[in-house]
Amino acid sequence: MDFDRLFTAQLDALRDEGNYRIFAELERKCGAFPRAGHHVDGAVRDVTVWCSNDYLGMGHHPAVIDAMMNTTRECGTGAGGTRNISGTNFHHLVLERELADLHGKESALLFTSGYVSNWAALSTLGARLPGAVILSDSLNHASMIEGIRHAKCDKVIWNHNDVEDLDRKLAAIGPDRPKIVAFESVYSMDGDIAPIKEICDVADKHGAMTYLDEVHAVGMYGPRGGGVAEREGLMDRVTLIEGTLGKAFGCFGGYITGSHALCDFIRSFASGFIFTTALPPAVAAAATASIQHLKQSRVERDAQKDRVATVRAALDARGIPHMPNPSHIIPVMIGDPVKCRMISDMLMEDWGIYVQPINYPTVPKGTERLRFTPSPLHSQADIDHLVNALDNLWSQCALSRMVA
Ligand SMILES: *Cc1c(COP(=O)(O)O)cnc(C)c1O
Repeated sequence: MDFDRLFTAQLDALRDEGNYRIFAELERKCGAFPRAGHHVDGAVRDVTVWCSNDYLGMGHHPAVIDAMMNTTRECGTGAGGTRNISGTNFHHLVLERELADLHGKESALLFTSGYVSNWAALSTLGARLPGAVILSDSLNHASMIEGIRHAKCDKVIWNHNDVEDLDRKLAAIGPDRPKIVAFESVYSMDGDIAPIKEICDVADKHGAMTYLDEVHAVGMYGPRGGGVAEREGLMDRVTLIEGTLGKAFGCFGGYITGSHALCDFIRSFASGFIFTTALPPAVAAAATASIQHLKQSRVERDAQKDRVATVRAALDARGIPHMPNPSHIIPVMIGDPVKCRMISDMLMEDWGIYVQPINYPTVPKGTERLRFTPSPLHSQADIDHLVNALDNLWSQCALSRMVA
């Protein structure tokens, strides 16, 4: 059987739909963020990255780099095993304590990524709590959807951020069944923020536990970077807070936090925790340094807020349409998959600006967009250059503008 032909047929279909993924080959440059090298046809060119999830540039922070390098020299590279078999290192425990403290919880549990933490925690909760039902926001991330699917328990999808719909759907489930309400704080594509308090109120009313993905908020919101729930004084209302070490913390890995019993339960039953090599100790130490820094420094958060406001105002001044939202994510709407990719290509080739086009199925058809994430390290000159480029392309491609 010609397997390659089977593979190619599906890849061709993807290309025909305009949904074939092309990765930009970048080379991050330590200390030069948001500048990176872009490799094309054997040449390397400097570009400014406008779509990084290293939201605060912590991946280049001297304290974080020192922690990773020093710990590598002390402990070597890999963890040497799963957590159960020789892989648990002192640095993992320090990090778990740091995370529990960050979210005001008794306990925390590390995973090899945020994706794995969602997948493992939700699948374990749904599979092992007899009669469990998971109520999932309709715009939840793929890692949550896959975890819920793997749980093979009953699931109910509620309309995005719609507390009344959640209330109705919770009420329809028998009172004795364990109910898990799974949602995010900052949704990464529209940049909107969930009504966490109202969701917790409704969950409490029906005796449900709450599962909150704060991946796009940890390090970024709240006085110590504990996320939107910290900012709103709601951390103790949420049963389980999940996060990543790979975005604003600039490192790698994922985690959950909650009660001792909850974390011990996931630790003891989640295949995705048990049967995989632990994070390298140096990665854990670097993440700890990053969290500790962002707990006591708001310089990065303040500067980022300022940059976000500056970019929004500059876009408004040129009538370039962007989705209003209360977060750090600026979606610039194109509304056409071909134009979206074309503008992204032109930004890269003609202006040295890298922003990945976001097309279906990541977002609904007709809402294709460029998603900008300004960091504290984007200068005024970077912003001017970006907005000039967009202004130019808007005219060149006859895209519609907003009337001020
Ligand atoms: C990126 C992301 C994850 C996965 O985190 P990783 O550490 O990158 O695996 C989980 N949830 C949401 C909402 C995300 O955007």
